[in-house]
Amino acid sequence: MKLSIIIPIYNEEESIKVLYQELKQVLNNLSFEYEIIAIDDGSTDNSNQIIREIAQQDYNFKTISFKRNFGQTAAMSAGIDASQGDIIIPMDADLQNNPADIPEFLEKVDQGFDVVSGWRVNRRDKLWTRKIPSWIANYLISLITKVKLHDYGCTMKAYKKEVIKDIRLYGEMHRFMPAYTAWHGAKVTEIPVNHRPRKYGQTKYSVFKTFRVILDLLTVKFLIDYSTKPMHFFGKIGYWLSFFGLISGCWALYLKIFKDIYFITTPLPLLTVFLILVGLQFILMGLLAEILTRTHYESQNKPIYSIKEKINF
Ligand code: UDP
Ligand code: MG
Repeated sequence: MKLSIIIPIYNEEESIKVLYQELKQVLNNLSFEYEIIAIDDGSTDNSNQIIREIAQQDYNFKTISFKRNFGQTAAMSAGIDASQGDIIIPMDADLQNNPADIPEFLEKVDQGFDVVSGWRVNRRDKLWTRKIPSWIANYLISLITKVKLHDYGCTMKAYKKEVIKDIRLYGEMHRFMPAYTAWHGAKVTEIPVNHRPRKYGQTKYSVFKTFRVILDLLTVKFLIDYSTKPMHFFGKIGYWLSFFGLISGCWALYLKIFKDIYFITTPLPLLTVFLILVGLQFILMGLLAEILTRTHYESQNKPIYSIKEKINF
């Protein structure tokens, strides 16, 4: 068994060395082989220099340097793609996560879970700008993805290699990884972890960024429910709109024929045309989406299922 620790870094010069020491202490006490992968996400301070120095002395410490800042999701993806471990544990570089929690994650993986999510029970961040938005976000993510976790935002999580190697991440979507994996059939659990106040540097996220999560959530919801059958989504809306259009048309006719009320005196004809046109548009959009998803899956040879095991092939 081999362990890969993934650390996205964006301007964390003061924290890196301390984190490295802490990690070493914990990892050297484990009977695992390990690698630490530090991804410099286009830092403008001395972070890059520092990780390169460490890498020169320790060949289990590997570095990837981006040409510019691509964001935490991209940094984590790069680390995961390059990793060779059987268990992958991403964590923050700012010392807010505690490496001493690593053995507990491994224990849970050992018990058979594919994904172990950290839950910062005592989160040491600002209440109004970070904690409350994050509570709302976690509630909504759990509700919509139906994968109930208290803390999607905690970077520190453990994954078995098989469940995340093939996942492609976009935007700010590293948060949704547990939901994604669960949707592909992974067994997910969570454990409470330590959380420390940020000692050096500044947080890279503001309250506005937290709310972007809601938009990502819409994408995820769509992908989970309809990515292989978008016509069911768009078509349903199209049906309902056209149906209401027809009702309003019939009503207008009824008024005209039986009550002698002119078409022009009610908004019904306009509504009829509007609803039916928009409804048809939705159905056409569904057809386009069907074509797109076929291109998507077939061009990447992506199966629409995920297999757990094959025997005697
Ligand atoms: N990070 C990154 N690229 C970015 C933003 C953040 O690699 O564009 C890293 C950052 O250096 C840290 C981790 O992602 O290691 C989490 O960021 P931060 O601590 O600012 O988030 P918070 O703990 O405040 O939610
Ligand atoms: Mg942090």
